[in-house]
Amino acid sequence: MKAEIIAVGTEILLGDILNTNAQYLSKELAALGIEVYFQTVVGDNPKRLKDTIFQALTRADLILTTGGLGPTEDDLTKETVAEYFEEELVLDEKALSQIQEMFDRIGKPMTENNRKQAMVPKENGIVLYNEYGTAPGIIIEKNGKTAVLMPGPPRETVPMFENQVKPYLQKKQEYTFVSEILRVAGIGESAMETMVKDLIDHQTNPTIAPYAKDGESILRITAKAKSEEEARSMIAPVKEQIRERLGNAVYAEGETNLQTVVAEMLLEQGKRIAVAESCTGGMIVSELVEYPGISSVLLEGCVTYSNEAKMHRLGVKRETLEKYTAVSKETAAEMAEGIAKNSGADIGIATTGIAGPDGGSAEQPIGLVYIGLYHNGKTEVKECHYTGKRNKIRHRATYQALNFLRKALQNEEV
Ligand code: ATP
Ligand code: MG
Repeated sequence: MKAEIIAVGTEILLGDILNTNAQYLSKELAALGIEVYFQTVVGDNPKRLKDTIFQALTRADLILTTGGLGPTEDDLTKETVAEYFEEELVLDEKALSQIQEMFDRIGKPMTENNRKQAMVPKENGIVLYNEYGTAPGIIIEKNGKTAVLMPGPPRETVPMFENQVKPYLQKKQEYTFVSEILRVAGIGESAMETMVKDLIDHQTNPTIAPYAKDGESILRITAKAKSEEEARSMIAPVKEQIRERLGNAVYAEGETNLQTVVAEMLLEQGKRIAVAESCTGGMIVSELVEYPGISSVLLEGCVTYSNEAKMHRLGVKRETLEKYTAVSKETAAEMAEGIAKNSGADIGIATTGIAGPDGGSAEQPIGLVYIGLYHNGKTEVKECHYTGKRNKIRHRATYQALNFLRKALQNEEV
């Protein structure tokens, strides 16, 4: 089934709003195994709207429109699609009374032109009643072509798709597509891809797709089958194979993230943590604080930027700073140990590095970061090298520090 998504609205063409409906629908359709060939945006112009809809219905089997179902003169999506299908529009009493109720709730009189929103196809239509707004959606199916019309506001579009359109499309599809996700930390996307390349190349069903998002690498395994159960049983052995290859780099499955996994481990093990940050400037603490309930294990975070702060707050020795400088293995170790001991935490984690764009040298290039970790009475330091701009370096270092923590909490080699 070839599909086209049409977003109707001049605001989108002007750049006033982002076409998030198209992104949402594309993702959902892909998950259903429906191929989207085109995404189109058209303004509220009758001629161009008509050209767009007629062209789409010629080249696609299924079109999904959002927007232009409102009560005003220039809301013409429904009228145009009805014209294509040669469908007469008639008043739907249930839709009308829902619109009336909506106005009663907000204590305003319903205007005459709202009746236009309650007009539906006389014969080949399905009405999608709108729980979150006035305009009902419509599905028209005729001569092998299907048009799904939904309102523009995402808070109406999304539940209408989820609750009514998706089940309808699922029924039309012979196969179902199920995806599972493996999350990988500590290996870059291309290295990860190389490690599983032969698996990727040899699979057709399930398929394996690697991608990178916000600094982490992800593998998506997708199976096509007659039922969800069958699809999951096809995914399971592939997942095992990948896990064998990537080992402990796979830190989780499904919808989660590294800071959540680390926070859960800290809570589970009852280990209290304190953080001392230089180049990451509070980012590690900020990630941990995203997790509700972290307060029972996170004692404190210090941004110790100057040498004085490193000495006064963390007890880093002046000699260490003079002999090895602030960006060194030795300083990172004393920072981690210092913050843990001063706060009474079980774990101390620290960063010190050169994020750029200035301050780099041959011995200490931009992107050099030391991550120190004090845990179980021992201090370890990891020397890391990153490329890219200042914030990318800071994000990478934060991510790696969290991964360092995760491995330490698993008693794994870091
Ligand atoms: P209404 O009855 O609210 O007028 P409508 O179906 O006519 O609904 P539009 O007038 O096209 O929809 O859009 C209403 C609002 O919905 C827009 O102002 C915008 O905030 C949001 N919206 C519309 N289309 C999109 C889209 N493609 N992506 C994200 N938001 C959208
Ligand atoms: Mg409108």
